[in-house]
Amino acid sequence: MKTMTYRYTDELKKLRYFHWDSCRLCNYNFIQGDACNSGYRSNGEPLYVCDNCTIHLTELAARETYSPRPYEIPTGHSTLWRYMDFTKFLSILDTQSLFFSRVDKLADPFEGARGTIDHRQTWDNHLFTSYKQAALYPPGGHQCTLTAEQIDTQSRQQVSITNTNCEKARQVTYINCWHENHSESEAMWNLYSTDTTNAIAIKTTQDRLYKALGENLNILIGRVKYIDFNANLPALNAVFWSKRVSFEHEREVRAIVTNFGAQQFEGLQMPCNILELIESVYISPTAPSWFTQLVQNVATRLGYQLKIFQSQLKATPLY
Ligand SMILES: [Zn+2]
Repeated sequence: MKTMTYRYTDELKKLRYFHWDSCRLCNYNFIQGDACNSGYRSNGEPLYVCDNCTIHLTELAARETYSPRPYEIPTGHSTLWRYMDFTKFLSILDTQSLFFSRVDKLADPFEGARGTIDHRQTWDNHLFTSYKQAALYPPGGHQCTLTAEQIDTQSRQQVSITNTNCEKARQVTYINCWHENHSESEAMWNLYSTDTTNAIAIKTTQDRLYKALGENLNILIGRVKYIDFNANLPALNAVFWSKRVSFEHEREVRAIVTNFGAQQFEGLQMPCNILELIESVYISPTAPSWFTQLVQNVATRLGYQLKIFQSQLKATPLY
């Protein structure tokens, strides 16, 4: 087997990010536990392939064990909306950034949760068994040299560390939320603005959001999965992609970034290309007519020529 170089160009990172689930050469769909190989052809072209196709790799960057990503990425042209008060809209234009809220500051206390408090023992048992197995059967067929007592003690310590890390993760994970829908939503106007008479909605797409945030692969963008904690628990790597089924109407796509640096109390301002982000702006159906002109004027003064539309919910009915 070739030696791994761990060299990742931006092109290789993108290839892996967008095509994580299948071999780029034979289209084989990976299943949990398969090996997936990243690297380059002799002409430098990046490749991401199955074991059978590694003959085409001149350089092996890394051979990893495949595991499905814990979230789905919407197609590039999926329409995303963000409903907000005028002041928040102004802040986006003024700061040229999107606000990513720290998870523990979000309204839903179940953000980042592994279940309800009743699941504590279930999780502890599950983790304890996993860590014990890992200690008993080291990779590569090596023999375990620890006593049964040492394995138990070590596994219990690791459970405790994992529990602490799960709580801390809510303080270093930051989220920016969007609503995925091909059309405007009456419910979202009421849900995401404190006063719908001065609310606006930004319309964008998955692809625009990704580009507006600088094609930064440290910012993950994907769909939230809605689960019933009574029937299922999220995997550890899926807690920030999972919400309770009672939030299903949100049809949320979120951008997530982890920042282990100096903790920001409320959240992070992530630089954003406004013209790339905003496909158009919609004015709330209950806003007075002068409000549309105000939004237009303010955007223009800040240097943005934006497409601004009245809410389609304001159309005049024919009886
Ligand atoms: Zn292949």
